[in-house]
Amino acid sequence: MTEVFKGNFTQQEPIPEAAIEAALRVMRSGRLHRYNVAEGEPGEVALLEQEFAQAMGVSYCLAVASGGYALSCALRALGVGPGDKVLTNAFTLAPVPGAIASVGAVPVFVGVTEDLVIDLDDLAAKAGEADVLMLSHMRGHLADMDRLMEICTAAGIRVIEDCAHTMGARWRGRLSGTDGVIGCYSTQTYKHLNSGEGGLLVTDDAEVMARAVMLSGSYMLYDRHIAAPGPEVFERIRYDMPNISGRMDHLRAAILRPQLRDLATQCDRWNARYRAVEDGLRDTPGLRVVDRPEEEYFVGSSIQFLLLDWAPAAVQEVLRRCAARGVELKWFGGAEPVGFTSRYDSWRYAPSTAMPATDRVLAGLIDMRLPLTFSVEDCQVIARIIRAEAGAVFQSG
Ligand SMILES: *Cc1c(COP(=O)(O)O)cnc(C)c1O
Repeated sequence: MTEVFKGNFTQQEPIPEAAIEAALRVMRSGRLHRYNVAEGEPGEVALLEQEFAQAMGVSYCLAVASGGYALSCALRALGVGPGDKVLTNAFTLAPVPGAIASVGAVPVFVGVTEDLVIDLDDLAAKAGEADVLMLSHMRGHLADMDRLMEICTAAGIRVIEDCAHTMGARWRGRLSGTDGVIGCYSTQTYKHLNSGEGGLLVTDDAEVMARAVMLSGSYMLYDRHIAAPGPEVFERIRYDMPNISGRMDHLRAAILRPQLRDLATQCDRWNARYRAVEDGLRDTPGLRVVDRPEEEYFVGSSIQFLLLDWAPAAVQEVLRRCAARGVELKWFGGAEPVGFTSRYDSWRYAPSTAMPATDRVLAGLIDMRLPLTFSVEDCQVIARIIRAEAGAVFQSG
């Protein structure tokens, strides 16, 4: 009997009842705009910012319209502008080079290692080319953050962390997003909190936060923020910051606050699923699982493995066979961008030179979502299917 998996790889869990009730309260109030608050009412957005800052152990937080908006706002808040170069990962998703392009800046791509993290030797070699690194913790893989920060500090590089896949993750106990000057998160449906669209930006730097608040479209209502610096900081910058509206509204914040309280539990649930797939795939001939360093507490909301040095036709055959049995795999090595996968050389607005070691990794890189609607048993079934099909193709090749 051939096992077939029937689950849906893009189906997230429902929004918790407490969040639905909070959303109904906001709608009944009619006050959806973040600065539309009744006397003495802080509002859902300001409360979310306060709670997220507390959860991350940082001084300041700003909630915005999307993760991509948080990234471009972070660049602007650091003064990055037209023609400036910004170091970033060659292995990431389109919103990252897109945020750099949105301020007229130019990405300088840094390679990826077989462990799927930014290549720190390549970063050190290119450190002189820019003074900002937009570091994407792509698919939740954390680089050695101690060495990365050493390289950047020595070279005077300010780090913006893209934590779209690492909300709740830690490197040696330090929460992802708190090593750099700014941490950016997404609350889009496929990330770790779900408000459909949304983003969060955190920092300990008062002036950076004041600039970000002004940029996000606060008019002169910044005193309604709780997780922002005092008016004296805004006095210094408020005439110099353009309004580039990208605020969050109370409805999304209301949905997010109850989810934030469950974040740690959800992370553990993701990891139980991740480990089930990882255990099932380990020691499959020709297939390499990515060993996770001990210093890393990751959030396994997706899993990757490598079919290193396989012929493209053989990789495609594995994808085809797995799809026929209900297992949806994505491949970062395809010649054309498909769905959300794309390669650095398919972002033609951004110049790049060939990176053979990176190309080799991307050519073998398989990616799979692990929504929490899957049970641990589902994950065991998925692993058995991949193991059987990859094994069969490997043997016949
Ligand atoms: C989703 C994502 C973003 C941006 O998030 P949006 O909220 O969709 O704008 C940034 N970086 C990575 C790696 C992502 O996956």
